[in-house]
Amino acid sequence: MNNGFDPFEEASLIVAHDDSNAYDAVVPPIVQTSLFTFTDYDDMIASYRGEKVRPIYTRGLNPTVRMFEDMLARLEGAEDAIGFASGMSAISSTVLTFVEPGDRIVAVRHLYPDAYRLFGTLLKRMRVEVTYVDGRDEEEVARALPGAKLFYMESPTSWVMETHDVAALAAIAKSHGVLTVIDNSWASPIFQQPIALGVDMVIHSASKYLGGHSDVVAGVVAGSKALIARIRGEAYPYLGGKLSPFDAWLLIRGLRTLPIRMKAHEQSTVAIARRLQAHAAVETVCYPGLANQLAPGLSGTSGLFSFIFREGINIRTFADQLEIFKLGVSWGGHESLIVPGEVVLAQKAQPNSAQAFGISALSIRLHIGLEGTEALWSDLEAAIIAATD
Ligand SMILES: *Cc1c(COP(=O)(O)O)cnc(C)c1O
Repeated sequence: MNNGFDPFEEASLIVAHDDSNAYDAVVPPIVQTSLFTFTDYDDMIASYRGEKVRPIYTRGLNPTVRMFEDMLARLEGAEDAIGFASGMSAISSTVLTFVEPGDRIVAVRHLYPDAYRLFGTLLKRMRVEVTYVDGRDEEEVARALPGAKLFYMESPTSWVMETHDVAALAAIAKSHGVLTVIDNSWASPIFQQPIALGVDMVIHSASKYLGGHSDVVAGVVAGSKALIARIRGEAYPYLGGKLSPFDAWLLIRGLRTLPIRMKAHEQSTVAIARRLQAHAAVETVCYPGLANQLAPGLSGTSGLFSFIFREGINIRTFADQLEIFKLGVSWGGHESLIVPGEVVLAQKAQPNSAQAFGISALSIRLHIGLEGTEALWSDLEAAIIAATD
């Protein structure tokens, strides 16, 4: 990696231009149709025989969706990609394509909560077992992998942002013949390219940075032609979690500015995380961008992180005093958001959040949006003062 290759420059070129839009339009059309008709019987039967690759029905193939998939595959340095109706649809369809009853998955701990719940409900019912490991402990990972079907990774992890040596973990999995998949939503292909690090499949919640405007829920998986073909041939058509043409069009629009947005998120977030770390009211900041050296394989850091207050802060007052930061889940858009850990711990669906996801009552998750850094910092500082008793 990195011998003259600049992922930012490369990505900026990929997202800037389309090859051949109708009418030489700069922006591609939305092919908003459910079905495609045939000129005659021979045309139809040739398509059904597979002699022609052409769209028949939008659940199978749609040109606007295909355009997004191609752009994302190029950004991830993958041979192919497949879009989904949500990140969870991408996760469940990928996992269900490659496991069967009696199989075992190894997953890093502190996963995205709904992925964890998928493993604990549907997969459990299918008799698929999951072993959780600390992804920072390569010996523990190596002990867990023999006999597993799939190694499910996330780096950094969702709330406490534990980072892993993705290339090292992928190599260990490969030596045991275990297929690897990583949720790369946090870093985006601008800051981490898992295919180049040896990972087999890369998943995104495209609802986050790929969309970037908080107006789409979507997902995507990138990988080799053979692996994507298996997903496309099995879980995708029958579970039916297809990406809509309009959402794909919004994602193409979002990708145009992905490289530059990621740089802006990084710059603001590093500044704010540093100031929080130096603040007397703050115990710890969980942000990979504060380390002296970034985790191997990571070339930058995005806008989502968490921190833990010391005792003596009224979390309700802190949250309500904020003016620019809005209370809200999700992240990756233009706007700054806050989720208090206490609120997540109060959710009835997940009595084990503290242990499973590393969330504490004094922790706060922030997404740093594209507003001015100084305005965001003033907002946080004022709210901390108001919330200190
Ligand atoms: C949001 C999120 C998902 C789920 O994506 P949806 O598009 O909401 O289904 C998966 N992984 C991570 C890390 C996420 O933050």
